[in-house]
Amino acid sequence: MDLKDSVQYIKGVGPKKAQILSRMGIDNIYDLLTYYPYRYQDQSSITDIADLEVGTVANVAGTVAAVRDKSSRRGMKMLIVLVRDNTGVIQVTWFNQQYLKNKLKPGTAIFLHGKITYAYGGQGQLAMQVMNYDLGSENSAGLNPVYSIPDFMKPKDFKKLIDSVLAEELEFPEILPEGLRKKYNLLPKHMALSYIHNPQNSAQLQQARDSLIYEELFAIQAGLLYWKYRNQVKQQGIKFRASGALVEQVFKALPFTLTGEQQKVWQDIQGDMERSEQMQRLVQGDVGSGKTVIAILALVKAVENGYQGAMMAPTEILAIQHYEKISELLEPLGIKVVLLTGSVKTKQRRLILEDLKNGLVDILIGTHALIQEAVEYNNLGLVITDEQHRFGVRQRAELENKAGEKLPDVLVMTATPIPRTMTLTVYGDLDVSFIKELPPGRKPIRTFLRNMGRRELIYKFVYDQVQAGRQAYVVCPLIEESESIDTASVEHVYEELTGGYLYGLNCGLLHGKLKPQEKEDLLHDFLDGKIQVLISTTVIEVGVNVPNASVMVIEGAERFGLAQLHQLRGRIGRGEYASYCILINRGKGENAVERLRLMEAVADGFVLAEEDLKLRGPGQFFGNQQHGLPDLKIADVLKDLELLVQARKDAEQYLEFGIPSNKLNLLLELQYKDKFLNIADV
Ligand code: ADP
Ligand code: MG
Repeated sequence: MDLKDSVQYIKGVGPKKAQILSRMGIDNIYDLLTYYPYRYQDQSSITDIADLEVGTVANVAGTVAAVRDKSSRRGMKMLIVLVRDNTGVIQVTWFNQQYLKNKLKPGTAIFLHGKITYAYGGQGQLAMQVMNYDLGSENSAGLNPVYSIPDFMKPKDFKKLIDSVLAEELEFPEILPEGLRKKYNLLPKHMALSYIHNPQNSAQLQQARDSLIYEELFAIQAGLLYWKYRNQVKQQGIKFRASGALVEQVFKALPFTLTGEQQKVWQDIQGDMERSEQMQRLVQGDVGSGKTVIAILALVKAVENGYQGAMMAPTEILAIQHYEKISELLEPLGIKVVLLTGSVKTKQRRLILEDLKNGLVDILIGTHALIQEAVEYNNLGLVITDEQHRFGVRQRAELENKAGEKLPDVLVMTATPIPRTMTLTVYGDLDVSFIKELPPGRKPIRTFLRNMGRRELIYKFVYDQVQAGRQAYVVCPLIEESESIDTASVEHVYEELTGGYLYGLNCGLLHGKLKPQEKEDLLHDFLDGKIQVLISTTVIEVGVNVPNASVMVIEGAERFGLAQLHQLRGRIGRGEYASYCILINRGKGENAVERLRLMEAVADGFVLAEEDLKLRGPGQFFGNQQHGLPDLKIADVLKDLELLVQARKDAEQYLEFGIPSNKLNLLLELQYKDKFLNIADV
């Protein structure tokens, strides 16, 4: 059995079970082994039988006192078992599982988890509806792993799968140098996995966790460093000349002067570009802080030196917007700017690719289309990715690989404020610059938190704003209606609003299930003002610039993270009009209110991001895996920050001696699939 083998290799797993597992993110053997328990039931959570309360869910640890067979009138076979601890007796019934009788011999230690009820006809005798149980000998310390699995799946069956795989002789890519393993007292992978699923005691569990956490952090840092190291050592970067007349002309053509913060970042970038090492810089700036102009200046600097520049955006609409802005500014200066996206037709596309190869294109702007195989540059000198969090490290690497002998400089821009603690994991190979202030003269966006009772007034306000010539966004968390009536699906809200509060207005319905072209068309119509109210899921989150939009209503705001809400809110307040963001709380929990109040009070995306990370944890941070790196398997960038820094230092130190790159590559691939860069390409 190999780690990459499908779970169907496991005995008893057929196509149907495999499909269920796949939905849990478990496709191969490795996925299964790294599906870690999210908690353990330990002795401290055990209740004495004398203290059990009817109606609660509890854990009981005792021994089997007596077993009795019984058949119900309908012929159901029952096994009635009395379990005793030092304080009392409880009755437990299993239905149609007569085989258990052999295992449940009196005197057997047993651990029970379930709901406490009264025994049927038992005159106050307590009983338990068992949800999970373990026979003592299977887990002597009572550290029972608990997995997050669907309701219809039996915990025992799931655990059996894991145990059967653990029993196999598997070969793991061991990447940790012996010195580090000794230094931190870490376990080999197989042992760590075995202990994390079957800890005999808490010390063992701790050691297993430590081992896996450290390995994960080390692997990521080593992977990032490999990339950086290759770029520094294997090849030379481009040494651009000091900025000259062309860059100067752009400054003159701009309708504004750079803010101090933009100025500073531009200095950083110029410095990088004029050095012979490759630039690898991340520019973080809140939405609307003016990153595009920085990108333009860098692109022009590349062109001025006789190189081509490429800029990749995550969506077509964003690419088009960049293209329009940039070509308008640069074409008069004799710079050839071209747009390449998935919807450029074959013939046109061939021409573009030809021109690109022959050096007739100075600046290429586009989407993922930029990294497709057929795309060849003449002499690519600068690569920019906008909204990097939407791309993996891997896509960035692919774009870099398009260059010739000399490595292009790399500029990464993101409007998602990334808390400092996270920068290191996600962008461990980049230098960072911040744009900390917005250009002058912006009208602040006013944010209001409201509950469902105010919806009529809210949409009346939206209606009036639209009548006054503005446009609005309504954002909903879900696409389809789910069971709960309280949740706001975009389709439901669309039906409701167009037939009610917003009757008579031109509304558009936008969600991720539309075809890319349909999405683009809708956004275009919104941009052109043909659509007045865009009712949408979070697909509008990135980049769309419609200065006439002045209102955003977010339905079910409690379902979003602060960082994401802030991103969404950044779609308004981009023009001359006063702007309003209205958060509708559909939830009932108090802590959502507290969290959402921060949106009213705080306008700074970085502050919100830090808060969000603290409140929701890193896994949730970007909503759904938008940080270019998949969720960490076991490490936690907040709790394990010190370890992360240490792992980075260690990786730096050991990289010199060489970490077996094939093993590292295999591990990264197993853990993160294609979400992380493939260092085999290095
Ligand atoms: P983002 O950082 O979100 O990409 P943009 O680059 O799109 O922001 O800039 C937002 C708006 O601010 C644009 O309309 C841009 O022209 C304008 N802008 C950028 N820099 C300045 C500045 N220094 N002074 C005034 N307006 C600016
Ligand atoms: Mg931008």
